[in-house]
Amino acid sequence: MMARVPMLRPRLAVIDTRTAKPGPKLRAAHYGTPEHVEWSRAVIRRAGGMCQGKGCGRTDTRFFADHIAELKDGGAALDLANGQALCGTCHGTKTAAARAARQQG
Ligand SMILES: [Zn+2]
Repeated sequence: MMARVPMLRPRLAVIDTRTAKPGPKLRAAHYGTPEHVEWSRAVIRRAGGMCQGKGCGRTDTRFFADHIAELKDGGAALDLANGQALCGTCHGTKTAAARAARQQG
């Protein structure tokens, strides 16, 4: 006797992020996408191994691809023009400053 195999339907709908306005959950999910990884690599590659933070220029560290206009502030997620490579110190400073600016409205 043959077992009936139920049809498996994909559980996740495909969301077109080019047209959909990302909510908080989607914004968080964005960081795991291959598109983001590629953007991040391109931003860091373009920096040529130097921190792009103002007056920093560190070369001996690992870099973070930073959104100049943060996603929370409506910045473009995958636009290279909205990316810069920052060392951990500059990235932390910038993230804190952006958060403070948001809180001040
Ligand atoms: Zn730096």
